[in-house]
Amino acid sequence: MNKANQDTICALATAAGSGAIAVIRLSGPEAFAITETIFHPASKELIISNAESHTAHFGLIKQGEEIIDEVLVTIFKNPKSYTGEDSVEISCHGSIYIQQKIIELLLEKGARMAEPGEFSQRAFLNGKFDLTQAEAVADLIASESKTAHQIAMRQLRGTYSNRIKDLRTELLNFASLIELELDFAEEDVEFVDRTEFVKLVNKISSEIKKLVHSFKVGNVLKDGIPVAIVGKPNVGKSTLLNALLNEEKAIVSDIPGTTRDVIEDRINLQGTLFRFIDTAGIRDSKDTIEKIGIERTYSQLEQASIVLFLIESDASLSIDSIKNQLSEAKINFESDEQIIIVLINKTDKIDFSNFQEAKQLKIIGISAKNKIGLQEIEDSLLAYVQQFNIQSSSIVTNSRHIEAFNNSLAALQQILFGFENDIPTDLISIDVRDALYHLGSITGEITNDELLGNIFGKFCIGK
Ligand code: GDP
Repeated sequence: MNKANQDTICALATAAGSGAIAVIRLSGPEAFAITETIFHPASKELIISNAESHTAHFGLIKQGEEIIDEVLVTIFKNPKSYTGEDSVEISCHGSIYIQQKIIELLLEKGARMAEPGEFSQRAFLNGKFDLTQAEAVADLIASESKTAHQIAMRQLRGTYSNRIKDLRTELLNFASLIELELDFAEEDVEFVDRTEFVKLVNKISSEIKKLVHSFKVGNVLKDGIPVAIVGKPNVGKSTLLNALLNEEKAIVSDIPGTTRDVIEDRINLQGTLFRFIDTAGIRDSKDTIEKIGIERTYSQLEQASIVLFLIESDASLSIDSIKNQLSEAKINFESDEQIIIVLINKTDKIDFSNFQEAKQLKIIGISAKNKIGLQEIEDSLLAYVQQFNIQSSSIVTNSRHIEAFNNSLAALQQILFGFENDIPTDLISIDVRDALYHLGSITGEITNDELLGNIFGKFCIGK
């Protein structure tokens, strides 16, 4: 145990501000002794440090003779606690004054304020979970939708970290044989079966590649699938956005080009977030402010997973004219990267049912103003999500993991290159160590203070 862990730390674990109740957390070797100095249990014979783990006790927090609050104290004895240390949770009334007062008393009696993420860092250092699981705790707290929650929960359950650990162990076995070969370099013996080793390196590479591939999807699902609403001025983009968001977030006006800036908003459809991007509209403009808006439209367009391309219905509408409008807006209708949904708006003015060819192109006729066709749009958005099997696939959402995966892949490729080109074993062993290092850094089998500081520093205080 490092020295920092000998301190007993405390912090408010519930959200700052007043509420029905608040929870103050205390962890470390003095957690029970410090609690005993301010907590007066209702059952007089109770001694906190002798009480059983996982029990809750009612009583008073007092400063001298003054009663600060009636509280419930829950006890967790090491190693059966979140941090793995002796821990106490004090549930008090959620007044800001009471919260501060209790923390003040704990500090006075020898605890110190916890750093951000320090409880979780201690849990990691005490082997309660690996790094990916610690990071999943942060993601779980931040998850705002069912999908984000599912992804974080799968990571917390260790879906891919266990697999990575197993693969790394296999690689480690080969690595030790390679090191052995180096020790006997003079005698020119081979302990490592080259063919088996290449097989393993290929197997690890292909599993990592799948995980790297899931990253783009993972982030999109976690942060909300970006949807761009694109079309010429006045076709009804703001009206559509409002209808979908069901509130007046964008300025609707009759003057072309009034939606100058990019407005972004999100909706939650059956547990999945979609980020809507309303854009300034695509047309040639001499107005500089509007020009900036148009440039932004194009950059938003590239980031979007789904493009809702809005066209105004008129009598002369044909498949060719739709295709022309798409190419004018630089949209690739046959793109594999993006889903393009063509929406023909204002069908209240022109009878859309006459437009028979629509069926060929997956075009949806709508009236944004009259909220007609919205369900069909939502169904198309959800169809996009169903292709990713969130419940059963391992999805990486963490950029630190991706960097480490990419570094491992590069090292693994070097190993293969080394074997193919008869590079001396001592040089190959450097790449093997490199691959082991990067794989180990994902789960935390290999760490350093800087890495831990970066990860846990982003957590909130009290977590
Ligand atoms: P934007 O410039 O593309 O954002 O277009 P707006 O949303 O500001 O709409 C331009 C005008 O078209 C407004 O007067 C809207 O009320 C009108 N509009 C939008 N949708 C419809 C619709 O479905 N039918 C009709 N008749 N008018 C619409």
